[in-house]
Amino acid sequence: MSNKTNDIASLYEQCIVPVYTPDVAIVSGSGSKVVDIENMQYIDLTSGIATLACGHCHPAVVKAITEQASTIVHSSNLFYNPNMAILAQKLSKASGGYKSFFTNSGAEANENMVKIARKWGAENGGRYEVIVFHQGFHGRTLAMCAATAQEKIQKGFDPMPTGFAYADYNDVESVKAVINERTVAIMLEPIQGEGGVIEATPEFLKGVEALCKEHNLLLLMDEIQTGMGRTGSLFAWEQTEVKPDMFTLAKALGGGLPLGAVLVRPDLADMMKPGMLGSTFGGNPCACAAALAVLKTIEEENLLENAKKVGEQFREALEALMETYPQILEVRGKGLILGMVMEGSAKDVVESCRMGGVLCCTAGEHVVRFLPSLNISEKNIEEALEIISDSLEAIFEE
Ligand SMILES: *Cc1c(COP(=O)(O)O)cnc(C)c1O
Repeated sequence: MSNKTNDIASLYEQCIVPVYTPDVAIVSGSGSKVVDIENMQYIDLTSGIATLACGHCHPAVVKAITEQASTIVHSSNLFYNPNMAILAQKLSKASGGYKSFFTNSGAEANENMVKIARKWGAENGGRYEVIVFHQGFHGRTLAMCAATAQEKIQKGFDPMPTGFAYADYNDVESVKAVINERTVAIMLEPIQGEGGVIEATPEFLKGVEALCKEHNLLLLMDEIQTGMGRTGSLFAWEQTEVKPDMFTLAKALGGGLPLGAVLVRPDLADMMKPGMLGSTFGGNPCACAAALAVLKTIEEENLLENAKKVGEQFREALEALMETYPQILEVRGKGLILGMVMEGSAKDVVESCRMGGVLCCTAGEHVVRFLPSLNISEKNIEEALEIISDSLEAIFEE
């Protein structure tokens, strides 16, 4: 680390609650490339943890944000917000009629989804319990910690809010076993992201849907990481045979600005009354302007197709690396959310890649996770693969 990075690191040490462990200071970006404060360039396969669907500083997104910022930045939900209305209209059209409630983050979107489910449950038999899954991830607010069945997320923050029951992902019987007279909903990620890039099987989803029908439960999907095109369709559930009653978006929705949304079946939405939910910044004009530019760019630049095509290319190349490196146990995921399961530490691989000029992240102890922008080029992927390959060699063949 040179002086500049050291200076930042020491400010972190002095002034920031030490919950993050960064090692480089990113100061600019364009497309799938970013530059750090030492002027080193990287291929970014994290895209701000799946937030930058159109890459860094996409001209359409930059234009939308700057124009909106110089017109009106915020007005609040006391007043009509035209951008929010138009964004909700686009999301309704894309999803087949869901109504939107906008938030600032993923956790806040999930909180509100659970609140709506509880409201419905209160009026439908006095039920409130939501079934969630081990290794899932739903955010860091207290209730979403409780919904996130991982010891490292919950430990030391007791007492956890109640109203959640836990089952095993891809195991319908385990869901059946925890359903009781209090159960109101089942909440799941179509692909568990933070939990290790684990995809729900079609049988599991069908089984869960059948249980929802049988017991009059709501099916809630957390598409905060999988949504907005990452898996090759705008929403991951479109590629499954099931349809959620509500689902959440966040990460890539706002093109890098903080924005989340709950998409709600219209009849459930219309059960809510003025004042029941709220958010000061939720659906902020700038964030919504960015979201509109993101949706337009996804369509105009065929980014769903690109995510599928480049994702396939990337996946095949990672699988090919397994021949040279038996330390790679499995490659999994869909579109541009891919996980490379290592026998040993994923963190070592991420660090080695970073030193070589590729940014990626982990998902749990053993999974290296790749979340590039949806518009990443085949060429950038090839460049990245060379570095990933060299980085594996540096670790395993010294
Ligand atoms: C990131 C994430 C969240 C939390 O989103 P925040 O914006 O950090 O609150 C929730 N669920 C899933 C699946 C996520 O990937």
